[in-house]
Amino acid sequence: MSKPKVALYWCASCGGCEEATVDLTERLFDLIEAVDIVFWPIAMDFKREDLEKMEDGSIDIAIINGGIRLEEHEEMVKLLRRKSKIVIAYGSCAHLGGIPGLANAYPREEILKFAYEEAPTVINPDKVRPMKKVTIDGMEFELPEFLEYLKPLDEVIDVDYYIPGCPPTPDLTWEAISKLLSGEIPPKGHVFGSDKSLCHECPLNETKPDEIRLEELKRPHQVILDRSKCYLAQGVLCMGPVTRGGCEALCIKGGMPCTGCFGPLDGVYNQGAKALSFLASVIDIEDEEKYREMLEKLGFDPIGWFFRYSLAKGMIYRKKGDGE
Ligand code: SF4
Ligand code: SF4
Repeated sequence: MSKPKVALYWCASCGGCEEATVDLTERLFDLIEAVDIVFWPIAMDFKREDLEKMEDGSIDIAIINGGIRLEEHEEMVKLLRRKSKIVIAYGSCAHLGGIPGLANAYPREEILKFAYEEAPTVINPDKVRPMKKVTIDGMEFELPEFLEYLKPLDEVIDVDYYIPGCPPTPDLTWEAISKLLSGEIPPKGHVFGSDKSLCHECPLNETKPDEIRLEELKRPHQVILDRSKCYLAQGVLCMGPVTRGGCEALCIKGGMPCTGCFGPLDGVYNQGAKALSFLASVIDIEDEEKYREMLEKLGFDPIGWFFRYSLAKGMIYRKKGDGE
C-alpha cells in the first residue's frame, strides 16, 4: 500500500514553524517512514512545476505555515488546495495572521516607504523600489506583488484544520499529524490544542485567586517575577485566561507570561477584543486620570499586547492608506 502523501509549504513566515517541524527530532524519522513528503521546498529541491504536475487531490495532507502577503503566496496556496485532500493552517501566522499580520497596522505604501527609503540602514537616494517586472540584458524578470495587506490562510483558501502556536509545539504537531494519519479525523474547522484556556493547564493555576483586582499593571521587564505565583495576580499582563491551552504552558514555565499565540477559544472570534474586555474587568482603578497615568507609565501598546497574533483576523484587520 502506498504511503500517505504530505506537502509542506511556507508563506510569510519567520522560519520558526519549519524549525518546529525539525524539532520533532527522532519522531521526524517515524514521520518520514510513515509518509511520502512530495513537496517541501525549504528542505528539498522541489519546484512549482513539480506541484503543478501532480494530479488534483493527490496529496493527502498539505501543511501550510505563514500568512498570505505576496501574490506568489496566493497562487501557491490555491495550487496546494487544488492538489490536496486536507489542508492544515500551521502556526499563528497561517491561523490568525500572526506576527507579520501586525504590519496591517500600517498601509502598504507606508511599509514600502519605510523599508526602501526611510529605515536608518537604507541608502537609496534614487528611491528605487522593487518592480514587478524588469528587463535586464534583454531578459525579463518578474517579482511577485506585495499585496495590500496580510491575510490568514482561510481568507484565501478553504482550510480543514488548524494547528495553533508561534510556533506549534512538537508534541501538538505530532499529536495532530498522528491523529490524521491514523484516520481519527476531527470535524472540519477543528483547532488542535485544548478546548480550555491556558490557565487550566498552567502550573501556577493553584495560586491564581478566584477574583483578581489590579491597581497597577506592569510589563515583565519592570518587575522581578515570583515564578511560583500566578503572573497576572502579580500585576503582569498574562493572556492565559483568554488563550487556548495545549502548549504545555512553555512560556509560563520559562518565566514569561502568556502572549496569546494559541489564539482564542472556540466561539471567540476576536481574541484581542476579548482580552481587552477581560483586562477591563480586573483593573481596579476608578479615577480616569490615575488610569491614564498607569497606562502611560506602562507604555501601553494595545495592538502589541492584545492583537499580537490575531490583528489580521479581527474585525478591524488593517489600516487603509489615503485614497484606498
Ligand atoms: S507562527 Fe511564529 S514561528 Fe511560525 S512562522 Fe509565524 S512567527 Fe514564525
Ligand atoms: S493568568 Fe497566566 S500565570 Fe496565571 S494561571 Fe493563568 S496562565 Fe497561569
